[in-house]
Amino acid sequence: MIDIMPNYLNKFAYDIQKGPQSISFMIKCECNKKEFFLLENEETIEEKVKREEFDKLTKEYDGGAYSDENGNIFLYSKGFLGIGRKKIQLQDSFIPFQIKVIKAICPHCGREIILFDNRLYGYDAIVDQPNNLLADLKFSAVKANRNPCEIFVKIRNDLSIEEYIETMKGAFTERYAEAFSDISIYSIVNGRKKLIFEEETA
Ligand SMILES: [Zn+2]
Repeated sequence: MIDIMPNYLNKFAYDIQKGPQSISFMIKCECNKKEFFLLENEETIEEKVKREEFDKLTKEYDGGAYSDENGNIFLYSKGFLGIGRKKIQLQDSFIPFQIKVIKAICPHCGREIILFDNRLYGYDAIVDQPNNLLADLKFSAVKANRNPCEIFVKIRNDLSIEEYIETMKGAFTERYAEAFSDISIYSIVNGRKKLIFEEETA
C-alpha cells in the first residue's frame, strides 16, 4: 500500500490508523512528551488589505455571479431595475490568499512542530506553489485551546497515487503524501476531543 503519511509529520506520529484514503495519528515530540501548546498565525497587514479590497469588490458587485462557456467568472452589480448594472471579470489575483499555519510547541523541550502550512502542504499548495513563504508571521494561541493538550490529526487524500500521477502529469510524484485533500486537527484534553482546525486543501 502507498503510504499517505506526509513526510513532514512522519517522525512525530504514533497510534497510526490507516483507512483506504485516509490516515489518522497522534503527535509525539522527539523528547517523547505528548502534550503541546497549539499556535496559529495571525493575519498579516498585507492580507488584511487584500481581504478588505475583496470585501469592497463583492459589496460593489453584489448582484450575483455567472460563468461563461470558458469558465470565466463574472460578478455583476444590482443596478436599479437592471439599469446601470456593472460587471467585472473575477481574476484569480482578486481572491485573497490567507496563510494558514498551525504549529505545536512542546512545553518540555521547546520544539516547534508544524502541523499544517497551507503554503507548503495540501493539494492546492503543491499545484499552485504559493510564494508568500517569506511573510513575517506572528503567532498566537489557538483560541479554542490555550492549555497544553494532546493532538490528533486526520488527513484524507481523495486521489489515489495513480490518479495523482495522472492529474499532475508525473510532476511532484514524491510529494503525493503531502498533496492531501483535507486535514483536521483536534486537541484532546482529559480524553475530550475537540476540533480546532479543519481545511480543505483541494
Ligand atoms: Zn519536546
